[in-house]
Amino acid sequence: MKVMKFGGTCVANSAMITKVEEVIEKEKEDKVITLSAVAGITNQLIDFISSFHKDEEIDAFVEELRKNHVKLLPEGNEQLLKEATEALDTRLRKLSSLLYGVSYTEEITPRTRDMIISMGERLSVVILASRLKARGINASNFNSDEIGIITDGVHGNATADMNECEKSVGPKIHALLKAGVTPVVTGFFGISKNGHVTTFGRSGTDYSASVLARSCNASVVEIWKDVDGFMTADPKMVPEAKQVDRLSYEEAAELAYFGAQVLHPRAVFPVLQKKIPIAVRNVTRPDDPGTIICNDTSTKKSILKSVSFLKKIATIKVFGTGAGYKEGFLADITQALAEANVNIYSATTSQTCVAMLLEEGDVHMAKKTLEHILGGYYERIEIHENSALVCVVGAGLGSTRGVAARVFNAIANQGVNIDLISAGASTVAYHFTVDKKDVQKTIRAIHNEFFTG
Ligand code: ASP
Ligand code: MG
Repeated sequence: MKVMKFGGTCVANSAMITKVEEVIEKEKEDKVITLSAVAGITNQLIDFISSFHKDEEIDAFVEELRKNHVKLLPEGNEQLLKEATEALDTRLRKLSSLLYGVSYTEEITPRTRDMIISMGERLSVVILASRLKARGINASNFNSDEIGIITDGVHGNATADMNECEKSVGPKIHALLKAGVTPVVTGFFGISKNGHVTTFGRSGTDYSASVLARSCNASVVEIWKDVDGFMTADPKMVPEAKQVDRLSYEEAAELAYFGAQVLHPRAVFPVLQKKIPIAVRNVTRPDDPGTIICNDTSTKKSILKSVSFLKKIATIKVFGTGAGYKEGFLADITQALAEANVNIYSATTSQTCVAMLLEEGDVHMAKKTLEHILGGYYERIEIHENSALVCVVGAGLGSTRGVAARVFNAIANQGVNIDLISAGASTVAYHFTVDKKDVQKTIRAIHNEFFTG
């Protein structure tokens, strides 16, 4: 059996949903489908709860959501339409109560927030299941809690409890498939052991798909999007970029983490152990096999597979003579940042400095935190907000002589200065920082050197 995941842009409008239906109809193997919210809906929910509202504003918001979903329901079958409309209305009433509660109490807890933002997926599955039924496919929609996707209970950034999921999800899905049902399951969230809705982080439906695949021992996870799979570079920067046919799990994870917005970085981990391949495919070009992520042991045709970037980062450097000797220096820094909920993308250290890449929005708070906890034993802390990170990925990097020289020469020839370099931690990726204004030049230079030159 397969897991097929469709992203929000695949269900953005009726014409796109028709393409999704065609892809599903053509697939003869047993399948479980998982779905994101209709494009833009999660953002709308998040924006709406960023402030408190009057009753009329809540009513108008929910009515607008209703309109935007009802218009996607199948036409021509009164009974189906009636059932699906009722199903949407039941969910919208619940949403409305939650929004009233938040605005009356002027309080939003992480738990309520997760319940509210999971609503986009609870609505979209109703639409797709009813449209599949209208085509004669025996589909049925399920919320992830009904299917038993159990999490560690961390709101906004949950991790699935794979042991529990294997026990609960696998048998349920297989029973449904045996009964001839095609389940359409909500993406983006699961449920904690004590019954709380917990979301997997933005774009978390890729992760849901991977969790379903691992739980059901699927033969493949298909991640369907409205664009091609992984590319040799962002086509907006390099128009001649090409789709990458194959990536190893490690290559895909590095690329996803360092900027390629093709796959949720965590989506690789649930399937890794069982070596279940992930295929990233385009619904508008369904005959193309897309990018296959698997345990790639094939002889590498190309040294470099792709180059990605992250612009919303900043560098923080903590200077202190003897930083390299002072035991616990790095531990104190990382612990303080973890407690402040600051994610460190990457770190490099020397005798006199610890340099870290952080999310742009975190860097000032990180500086304050570190000044506070490090007290007297650092010299100065510098922040660089104009950094961008560039990441080159390919299994050949670690094993082919002279690749690093080619990468850095190509950049140097453009007159671009490199600040931090991190290589060696992963055998399949290097990353380094350049000035934000030089990102495009850098990406093009590398792409030219390895792919088009
Ligand atoms: N709807 C959620 C989001 O927009 C999850 C997803 O799309 O995968 O982040
Ligand atoms: Mg989305």
